[in-house]
Amino acid sequence: AKAEGRGVYHYYTDELTDSARQRIECETRLRRAILNQEFEVYYQPQVHIQTGRIVGAEALIRWNSPVKGLVSPAEFIPIAEEIGLIGEIGEWVLNETCRQGKIWLDMGHRLTLAVNVSAHQVRHQNVPHMVEEALKKSGYPADRLELELTESALMQREEETVEMLHSLRAHGIRLAIDDFGTGYSSLSYLKRFPIDVLKIDKSFVDDIPYERDDMAIVSAIIAMGQALGFQVLAEGTERIEQIDFLREKGCTMYQGYFKSQPLRATEFEKLLH
Ligand code: C2E
Ligand code: CA
Ligand code: CA
Ligand code: CA
Repeated sequence: AKAEGRGVYHYYTDELTDSARQRIECETRLRRAILNQEFEVYYQPQVHIQTGRIVGAEALIRWNSPVKGLVSPAEFIPIAEEIGLIGEIGEWVLNETCRQGKIWLDMGHRLTLAVNVSAHQVRHQNVPHMVEEALKKSGYPADRLELELTESALMQREEETVEMLHSLRAHGIRLAIDDFGTGYSSLSYLKRFPIDVLKIDKSFVDDIPYERDDMAIVSAIIAMGQALGFQVLAEGTERIEQIDFLREKGCTMYQGYFKSQPLRATEFEKLLH
């Protein structure tokens, strides 16, 4: 029985050691990824529903890992948040997006580029300073940059965050609420935060025009957004029926595979004219 007990215990510590080792390995790989420039920014078009024109793009990070191949951000962003590396990674994405944005602007493309800002960054980083530096370094204009924050990111240190967003807004930066409708926050924050865009989460868009409840929710979000003076963007639009419905309801923009998946900069550029 003793031996068995030791065996179980042994197994248990091995487990712990394994997960700790995996975590350290992942952290080391992520740090190396920053140094070795294994990250790349992809751009997914945002389309004006009435005109069909590409008016902007969301910057989405990709990791070309020499060990693991192409790694999805859904896999490594949560880890980067947990180990506190999201600050550095987020700053890299912002700088790279502004650098690329300036090139496109100089080519005559008038786009708004949106960058994701995580809750961890709001809590631990001086986001206004980081943004100011990125704009200064690149020469990219503030009013062509949009920051995407989730409802939970907004609820971090709420008073300071309200202040921070007002100061960003005063500099001309646009603000979008990401994954709108999926958070646990009350709607009262829509009055306190200087918001430009509501991004309706893909989960509400998926089953349009078949799920009556989803259609009711999406219609209501669009109507509310209009009444409050926000633009409304529908995420994850894959089919023409969804876009027809959204257009009829007065949605401003869409982003989804119907137009394009996220693309590397050179491929995205080919969609512009
Ligand atoms: P998100 O911010 O909600 O980004 C939208 C995700 O939906 C992207 O996944 C995009 O490729 C995917 N998507 C867009 N249209 C469609 C569609 O029509 N169908 C389907 N099935 N999917 C669609 P992606 O690029 O894998 O990113 C996943 C998440 O990782 C993002 O969700 C975001 O939370 C996070 N992320 C990505 N890049 C960054 C970044 O630079 N910083 C931070 N903090 N998070 C990032
Ligand atoms: Ca986003
Ligand atoms: Ca989203
Ligand atoms: Ca999402």
